[in-house]
Amino acid sequence: MNALVFPFRDAAGLPGPGQTLLVAPGVYWLRMPLPYRLDHINLWLLEDGDGWVIVDTCIQSNKGKAIWRGVFEQMRIGRDYGRPVTRLVCTHFHPDHMGLAGWLTEELETELWASRAEWLFGRMLWLDAEGEGQEDIARHYAHHGLDEARVAEIAGRGNTYRMVVGEPPRRYNRLRHGDVLTVGGRGWEVIVGLGHAPEQACLYCRELGVLIAGDQILPRITPNIGVWASEPLADPLSDYLASLERFRPLPPDTLVLPSHGYPFTGLHLRLDQLAAHHEERLDALAAALGKEGRTTRGHTTVELLPVLFPQALDSFQIGFAIGETLAHLACLDRRGRARRAEADGVVRFRAAS
Ligand SMILES: [Zn+2]
Repeated sequence: MNALVFPFRDAAGLPGPGQTLLVAPGVYWLRMPLPYRLDHINLWLLEDGDGWVIVDTCIQSNKGKAIWRGVFEQMRIGRDYGRPVTRLVCTHFHPDHMGLAGWLTEELETELWASRAEWLFGRMLWLDAEGEGQEDIARHYAHHGLDEARVAEIAGRGNTYRMVVGEPPRRYNRLRHGDVLTVGGRGWEVIVGLGHAPEQACLYCRELGVLIAGDQILPRITPNIGVWASEPLADPLSDYLASLERFRPLPPDTLVLPSHGYPFTGLHLRLDQLAAHHEERLDALAAALGKEGRTTRGHTTVELLPVLFPQALDSFQIGFAIGETLAHLACLDRRGRARRAEADGVVRFRAAS
């Protein structure tokens, strides 16, 4: 196969905001709007006998809640409609996936299921009530060469997670890699993907040939892989590339349900493309470091941003760009192709040989 196939793109069109489309027996695609450049998220509704399993939530907003209420009515979701929600599964802690987890579990009298790291991350970020974490984030960017004006702007933002996420439930049920959930009499195996989020839970149903991929495997864009302030020496790109291999044993005709974009087939081609994309970017950064030679004192991550992000970046995009560039530099460091050194409170990378 040399191209991805999007079986629902032309046949049925996209479901509009709050509309659902049946994509496999008992599996509905629910598309919700997001107020960002990435303007939607795909959620999944799985029939579970008389009830439902919901996968992911959308960010917290009044508009999101209003759309959900319409979906409850339209799809008869919840005890009021005689179809209780047996589980709410969140693939990972990012706001568009976990933002309404607290609200949905209360409204629908159900419980959250997530991997331990994702639940803990959501709770941790939400509980940073005064936004001190945002100051750490700004310091992290300064450490990697960001100018004072941008650092000050980022430091003063307060808790950006809380702005779009309601309090995540104080208790949850743990999903582990290899667990099998039974939904509607069918087994869904948990495949944990790393790198984009700490322990993202993807769900694979062999009987249906369907993979709910979260943000781990997206058809058109590559998921953001970043090094963040909370773990500055992390190497999430190596984790990401290694965990992509967990999806290789799946059959070639697997229908992949991603959190953004269209459902598709061509899983193995997409795995190849995602890995190749990052290898190209690693090579580009290594070449940029090599041009200067190993005798120079090297470059900060911010100085290297244009290698991967030639376009102008606003102060929100720049944080993701720093995290992503740093992730590639950390991977080069691990592979012995770059050296990290710190001087005067600033981290620089240079060619290793
Ligand atoms: Zn995400």
